[in-house]
Amino acid sequence: MTAPRIGFIGAGNMATSLIGGMLQNSFKAGQILASDTSAEQLERLHRQFGIHTTTDNAELARDCDVLVLSVKPQVMQAVCAALPAPRRSGQLVISIAAGITCDSLAAWLGADTPLIRCMPNTPALRGQGVSGLFAVPRVSAEQRKLAESILNAVGISLWLEQESQIDAVTAVSGSGPAYFFYLMEAMTDAGEQLGLPREVAERLTLFTALGAADMAVHSDVDTAELRRRVTSPNGTTERAINSFAADDLPGMVARAMRAAAERSAELS
Ligand code: NAD
Repeated sequence: MTAPRIGFIGAGNMATSLIGGMLQNSFKAGQILASDTSAEQLERLHRQFGIHTTTDNAELARDCDVLVLSVKPQVMQAVCAALPAPRRSGQLVISIAAGITCDSLAAWLGADTPLIRCMPNTPALRGQGVSGLFAVPRVSAEQRKLAESILNAVGISLWLEQESQIDAVTAVSGSGPAYFFYLMEAMTDAGEQLGLPREVAERLTLFTALGAADMAVHSDVDTAELRRRVTSPNGTTERAINSFAADDLPGMVARAMRAAAERSAELS
C-alpha cells in the first residue's frame, strides 16, 4: 500500500508542530504537503522539513488522501468554500479549529465527507499535547487510526463518543495549560513573599509542577491517593491543604471550568 498523502491547509504554529512531530515518527517528508497564504511561512517550512509546499489550497486538496484544516476559525468557511468540488472520494478531513462543528464542515465540504474534529492544546508545540478527537460515523477504522497517528506525533489523543464533549475537553485540556500557569504564577509570588529570590521561587515551582505531573502520569494510584501519601497528619502539607479546602478550591475550579465549557458552546 502506498503511504497516504497528508496535506495541511494553514501552515502556522499547530501545523508546524504536527509536521515536526510526524517526521520524528513514522511519516516521511514525501507524503506531507502544506499550503498557506504566506509564501515566507511556506519557504521556512520547506527549508526546515523538506516537504512540498504551495500557496494553492485547491492543488493540495486534489493531491492528498487526508486534509488537515489548520487555519484560524474565522477563515475556515471561506477556505472550505474555495476547495474544488468534488474532492477525492472518501478523502478524510481533520479539523483542528476551535468552535467549528462537524455540521458546519459538512455543509461547507459536502454531507458525505468523512470528518474528524479535534481539540489539541498548546503543549503540542513541545510534543506533550493531549487532544480530544470526535469522528462522524462515516469515518472508517483505518482513517481513525491514521488520524490518531497524526495527533499522537505531538502527544496523546483520546476518542470522544459525542461531539458536544468537545466543550468539556476545551474546558479541561484546551484551556487547562493556562490554569496551571496561573497556579505556578501564584506559587512563585507566594514563594517570593516567604523570602525566596524570585528566580529561586520560580524554579522550585516549575520543577515541582513537572515532577508532580510526571509522578501522577506514571503512578498506578490516583492523584487523591498521591496527595494523601504526601500529607502527614498535623504536618506542613496538611496545613496548606486545609487552607485550600476552607477556601473551596474544588468549587472554584469547577465553576471556572463550567464557565470555559459554556463559552466553548457559545462559540460553536
Ligand atoms: P496560526 O495563525 O499560527 O496558523 C494559521 C495559518 O493559516 C497561518 O500561517 C496563516 O497564514 C494561514 N492562513 C490564513 N488564511 C489562509 C488561507 N486562506 N489559506 C491557507 N492558509 C491560510 O494559528 P495556530 O495557532 O496554528 O492555530 C491553527 C488552528 O488550530 C486554529 O483553528 C486554532 O483554533 C486551532 N487550535 C490551536 C491551538 C493552539 O494551541 N495554537 C489549540 C487548539 C486549537
